[in-house]
Amino acid sequence: MVSSEYERRIAARFATFDQDGNGYIDREDFSVAAKALLAEFGTAARSDKGQALYLGAEAFWQGMAGIADRDGDQRITRDEFVNGAVKRLRDNPDRFAEIARPFLHAALAVANPDGDGAASVTDTARVLRILGVSEDLALTAAAALDGDGDGRVGEGEIVTAFARYFTVPE
Ligand code: CA
Ligand code: CA
Repeated sequence: MVSSEYERRIAARFATFDQDGNGYIDREDFSVAAKALLAEFGTAARSDKGQALYLGAEAFWQGMAGIADRDGDQRITRDEFVNGAVKRLRDNPDRFAEIARPFLHAALAVANPDGDGAASVTDTARVLRILGVSEDLALTAAAALDGDGDGRVGEGEIVTAFARYFTVPE
């Protein structure tokens, strides 16, 4: 029996990737997310950090398409997401972390102007909200990422948590 809780969580993950809400995931959704992050933190698209974020977003899209876009039409439908991406990423969470890492690395750099490789819990919550995590979950999730309670979230922590969130255990 497929649990409705599982279905609900899959639907939420799909909606998170489908940033523009047009019913499929494509390259545009990743550049929409990059653009929204840059706007949130007041970073110029043409800056080094802005360019790194767009490159990370493109790599993330290419990685997801490689895993899930079975018919190669440059769109990931909900069916391709559920039967391709979710299953394959669940079997191999490290692969997801690898695909997402350049984007998350660049996103943390945008959220963290002093460049020490970690962002504050508050700014991490802002990143999560922009990426579609709901308002009430974002701060809790960001705080949970800060395992040692020093108020800062490092790249390793966010990559692992992202992989866990998106690979959705059944
Ligand atoms: Ca879309
Ligand atoms: Ca497709």
